[in-house]
Amino acid sequence: MAPKPPQPMDVLIVGAGFGGIGQAYSLRNLGLSMKLIDSLPDVGGTWLTNIYPGALSDTESFVYRFSWDAEDLRTYPWSRRYLRQPEILAYLKHFVERHDLRKYMQFDTELLSAQWVEESDVWEVRVSTGETYWARYFIPAMGVLSKANFPAIPGFESFKGRITHTSHWPADLDVTNKRIGVLGCGASGVQVITNIASHVSSLTAFIRHPQYTLPSNDRPITPVYRTWVNEHYDQIWAQLKASFAGFGYVESNRPFFSVDPGRREQLLEDLWNNGNGLRFMVEHFCDIITDADANNSVCDFIRRKIHQIVKDSEKARKLIPNERFARRPISNDGYYETFNRENVSIVDLKETPVEEITPDSIRTADGTCHILDIIVLATGFDAVEGNLLRVNIAGRDGRSLKDTWAEGPKSYLGSFAAGFPNMFMVNGPKGVFGNVIPAIEASIEFITNAVQRAESAKEKHGSRGVVEATFQAESGWGERCEQAAKGSLFSEVKDSWLSGGNVPEKPVGVRTYLGGLGSYRAMGNSATKDTWEGFVPL
Ligand code: NAP
Repeated sequence: MAPKPPQPMDVLIVGAGFGGIGQAYSLRNLGLSMKLIDSLPDVGGTWLTNIYPGALSDTESFVYRFSWDAEDLRTYPWSRRYLRQPEILAYLKHFVERHDLRKYMQFDTELLSAQWVEESDVWEVRVSTGETYWARYFIPAMGVLSKANFPAIPGFESFKGRITHTSHWPADLDVTNKRIGVLGCGASGVQVITNIASHVSSLTAFIRHPQYTLPSNDRPITPVYRTWVNEHYDQIWAQLKASFAGFGYVESNRPFFSVDPGRREQLLEDLWNNGNGLRFMVEHFCDIITDADANNSVCDFIRRKIHQIVKDSEKARKLIPNERFARRPISNDGYYETFNRENVSIVDLKETPVEEITPDSIRTADGTCHILDIIVLATGFDAVEGNLLRVNIAGRDGRSLKDTWAEGPKSYLGSFAAGFPNMFMVNGPKGVFGNVIPAIEASIEFITNAVQRAESAKEKHGSRGVVEATFQAESGWGERCEQAAKGSLFSEVKDSWLSGGNVPEKPVGVRTYLGGLGSYRAMGNSATKDTWEGFVPL
């Protein structure tokens, strides 16, 4: 082991996406030395690499941003209900420049390993440039949806055209007039299919299992609306931060079967015509993800819509999900209509699974070679802990995170891990489910509270300044997450990225706190600001 340097830095943050940028912002005035590294060449994280055609956030623009800078909230421009990828990237770069955060950042620097050095209370961190850093606080902010999931299909290397994963779309990839195959129909697949269909020669959607997707109802915003938002930001954030999902609208407390069938239909129509995937779940009814009968009725409503829109009944059949409406909901901008185009076809992978990739096609089990120029893998992510487990992280007694999480990831409040002192995960495993930006902000606030408390204890009574969640608190938090999941139909879906079942060999289990942003914030702030419950005394 390399010797401890005379002066370790205070804070090392890994990741320059929303999480890392927000954490650097939050810690910047505490008088601590700080560095932020990222393997990518610039700011942006997931929004730097997910540049596939059609990439946008389906969280509404007014709340897909940090809540902290009141003046910036009022003055920064945005023009539509949803932000496209280039706008989100521009916003992040703007935020970094505005708050002079770039001076902390070092790019093209990948984290390779991090090890807690017991005798000196520092993390020894090795990176791809050959450097070794020592830091008192090690803060991975490596993204929940960041490590790509590549399917194991024989013949990948033989393909003579181009293959890309949506999350690493090459800037020079032009799909115009090409024969495209898209594997996967989650949020990424839905967006890319809808966006490129009109200018490709042919598009074949390889669908293993269709999901429900709802109209996003994207539209330009009016100056009147923007003025209203600007004047009400304080109330907007107060409401959002106390809400369940944090998407900036009031969630319903109306049970589905408390209104008559005619009125239910009207309310669902309203959601179809004005809402989006997320609003559909919680805006007009409170029990769509908790009451199985309500959920079934909503599924029937969406299935009827698909039948009405998709003219070819065979295509409609292949697009209709046969499961609960209980995944992270998807919004679309004309997805079902896209399948009315003659150049768009569907291969149902349940009927004819993919056998191999050949030099010019995807060959399915019926022997058909689907001839393609470009294969787009919209196959999702090794989500949540994927990036953390890609590197070697070792805590107390040299125990690795991989071994510690062999049966699934653990945390206290989505941010702290027992046995990994002074390692703070921005929106780590078992963080809160909902709008990811307020989820990230909440985790950042807990972390900053903890750092402040440690620094103050160090100064006031010579504490070593080591923040450590107890094993008891970690297992208590795990149980709380289990309990919250039991009340939700989400827990019935075992093959989504939320449960880990989308990646072969990954342990399936609860990976988020489904109890709501409001209660998450309350518990985390109470523990890190007031009670210090769940932490080893400082
Ligand atoms: P995803 O929801 O996990 O979808 C992956 C798709 O790939 C599924 O259709 C899956 O089919 C398919 N797939 C995976 N492996 C396959 C294989 N071996 N053969 C055939 N098909 C395979 O991933 P995603 O679409 O990237 O979305 C993930 C999350 O990212 C979203 O839930 C959302 O949180 C975020 N996201 C958000 C937006 C937005 O608008 N805000 C946009 C993009 C992504 P099976 O279901 O059969 O496994």
